[in-house]
Amino acid sequence: MADLILALDFGGTKLTAAVLRASALRTESPNWQAKQRVFTPSDADARYELTTMIELGHALLGDEKPLAVGVSFGGPVNYATGTVRLSHHVPGWREFPLQERLEAAFAASARVDNDANVAALGEWRLGAGQDVDTLFYITVSTGVGGGLILQGRPWRGYEGMAGEIGHTVVAPDGPMCLCGKRGCVERLASGPYMAHDYRTQLQAAQGRPPKGAITGKSVAEAAANGEPIALGILRRGAWALGVGIGNVANLINPQRFVLGGGVTKAGVLWWDEVRRAARETAMAEVHFDVVPARYADDAPLWGAVALVEELV
Ligand SMILES: [Zn+2]
Repeated sequence: MADLILALDFGGTKLTAAVLRASALRTESPNWQAKQRVFTPSDADARYELTTMIELGHALLGDEKPLAVGVSFGGPVNYATGTVRLSHHVPGWREFPLQERLEAAFAASARVDNDANVAALGEWRLGAGQDVDTLFYITVSTGVGGGLILQGRPWRGYEGMAGEIGHTVVAPDGPMCLCGKRGCVERLASGPYMAHDYRTQLQAAQGRPPKGAITGKSVAEAAANGEPIALGILRRGAWALGVGIGNVANLINPQRFVLGGGVTKAGVLWWDEVRRAARETAMAEVHFDVVPARYADDAPLWGAVALVEELV
């Protein structure tokens, strides 16, 4: 019997498709029937990504028609119309009717939402937030994004822009962010910005550019080895995120914060500082916990499944 759900994740640099038997959702720990990931070339556009994704989906489905297609997209999406508003990474996505195109390609209902909302839904339904009904999910990676689940449903806000913790300001006199404001959480806490600041400060300290590539991961590694410049930058990033979390706690009072993305692998030092700053920022009467996500790269895919679960 055909009971496959197709989940698609349009990431900034990779495309992932996976299929799951709907009956697996009733089991303790559901698993993919099949999954495939491809990296997108740097000159890819929307047309290339859509064609590649449709091919991947059909390859995984074989001859079967899916019950529904759930989609995570790495950029702002109008959930109500299933239209991608734009992608900051890939050209051609502006006002793109992705839901409509996928429904035509797979002859099934589709739902499209942005990656942070979808990952929040995935962690709530199947991951680290299964036992709470209000949570805030934060991805700390190339950027810093957030998704809010209120009483078991995503809260998207007017125009779908809710949850943008990355561009809340925690240091008004801080460095300039890509969004044009100063001292955003993302400007201090994201992997590429921490790497950028580490490079700049090393060069100033040593009087010459540092050798080799510096990434968010290398900042975390140097900090773990006690290198003082890296330590300062990692602590500052964790502090910025913690202040952001504390402010969200005061405003929304979610029971749990679930943190995913590459920077959350930075180690105990980072986690301690995030939790300390969050606790210090929130009012004493506001209670919450801050925990790692269950799904690393797969949170948007699981969320894409949860997005269409009520359709199947
Ligand atoms: Zn910003």
